[in-house]
Amino acid sequence: AGELLSVTGLRKHFPIRRGILQRQVGAVQAVDGLTFSVNRGETLSLVGESGCGKTTTGRLLTRLLEPTSGKIVLDGRDISHLSMSAMRPLRCDVQMIFQDPYSSLNPRHTVGTIVGAPFRLQKVRPENGVKRAVQDLLELVGLNPEHYNRYPHEFSGGQRQRIGIARTLALKPKLIVADEPVSALDVSIQAQVVNLLEDLQDEFNLTYVMIAHDLSVVRHVSDRVAVMYLGKIMEIADRTSLYERPMHPYTVALLSAVPVPDTSRRTRRERIRLQGDVPSPINPPVGCRFHTRCWKAQEVCKVEEPALAELAPGHRAACHFPENVGGSV
Ligand code: SF4
Repeated sequence: AGELLSVTGLRKHFPIRRGILQRQVGAVQAVDGLTFSVNRGETLSLVGESGCGKTTTGRLLTRLLEPTSGKIVLDGRDISHLSMSAMRPLRCDVQMIFQDPYSSLNPRHTVGTIVGAPFRLQKVRPENGVKRAVQDLLELVGLNPEHYNRYPHEFSGGQRQRIGIARTLALKPKLIVADEPVSALDVSIQAQVVNLLEDLQDEFNLTYVMIAHDLSVVRHVSDRVAVMYLGKIMEIADRTSLYERPMHPYTVALLSAVPVPDTSRRTRRERIRLQGDVPSPINPPVGCRFHTRCWKAQEVCKVEEPALAELAPGHRAACHFPENVGGSV
């Protein structure tokens, strides 16, 4: 246990420039002030509709992007603004599993070259030990070590994602950011890949930040869940608390669309259909960002931004009129 990742006030604004002088005329506020932490060996899922900033957050945590402001501390080291060259040795510590196993593997390279690349890049193994190490990794993710000389097109989608996971594990990362790791896969094999990720977590005490939109999958894999909307965290809590006692109206609406596995235990709200589209992150609504779509919105919501307050132990929500506060549903 213990904290592995600490994120404070994280922002990523992409400037919008116009004209010959490329003067900045605005900014896309993709991520706008995130604060959260992740403990060793746990899975924190980031969920929300597309455009909520979850993928940008994943790219910031792996430092594929540099934050506009805020702090990312990984295992006691501030990596927020390290240059690419200073970041290179730390690439061992934080790795990403990509959404699309079809495009994330180079079709011209063999599995041996793909999975062995991190060893060669980081020079952590003598060349004559790479093949054995790659074959061990293939076995670990449920592939045949004999697949070493095959090419990605010879594998199914699920197998390709296993190859991607093997490559990710090569350097024994402290943190793995998994960006929609199963959403491009056939439903019938999603569970297999999810189970593999969980087995690997148990075996190596891996820490995951899982980016996802499928709340059924999230319920299955997460220890804690953060719900994002327009670049901000609306609610963050442990899985049970969030699914059983959602406090933010946005979470309530998202969960109302998810089938309840055991309907006898409690009654779920009627399905809530949110009105309108997600507003533009260039000009997000003032006050509570969700007020243009919230059925509970009042005047105060249009002017005063609610703080992400702890409303129950370990359960935070940013709402002036939260639901399910103070006891069971
Ligand atoms: Fe809705 Fe107001 Fe709560 Fe925002 S602060 S979620 S608008 S009730």
